[in-house]
Amino acid sequence: MIATEACDRCGWATAGGRRGCRARFEAFLARDFSDPLFFRAHRMFVDTYCLQHPEDFCASAKSLAAHLAGLCWMLEGGAAAAVGPERLHRWLNGERRLDKPPLPDRFGTMTIGDLPQESDAMAWGKAVRAWAESTWTAYADLQPLARRWVAEAAGGEAAPFTNLAR
Ligand SMILES: [Zn+2]
Repeated sequence: MIATEACDRCGWATAGGRRGCRARFEAFLARDFSDPLFFRAHRMFVDTYCLQHPEDFCASAKSLAAHLAGLCWMLEGGAAAAVGPERLHRWLNGERRLDKPPLPDRFGTMTIGDLPQESDAMAWGKAVRAWAESTWTAYADLQPLARRWVAEAAGGEAAPFTNLAR
């Protein structure tokens, strides 16, 4: 039987509903933890999924910052896609009040449904990156804020990337 109900969060058309979408996410997650080659894209995969399902994973400003600034730091600042930016996680663990901005209501043309079910780890990493970039583009209005969070988390050390001021 072909699942045709869309995920009402990310818009994946044939997800089998929100529940089917979450099941796919969890299956890929499990593979990350059983295969170190797939784990190389782990954090980028998780942050992107969370940003496409913000009602579930970005309820607080801090959780939004973790995923959005984390993705920013990986895509633009070269933080490792496996684990993300350690400094950001330390920064968010501190006492900090962040304001949560309005979120986009569309998350780009790619969803988790576009990632290959079966692939080698190299192709997987590329697909995750394309999905992450597409989602990052959908958050265009929040990119300046994400870069500001990254700069603050970097703590006045040399800006982690050169296009911060953009
Ligand atoms: Zn979904």
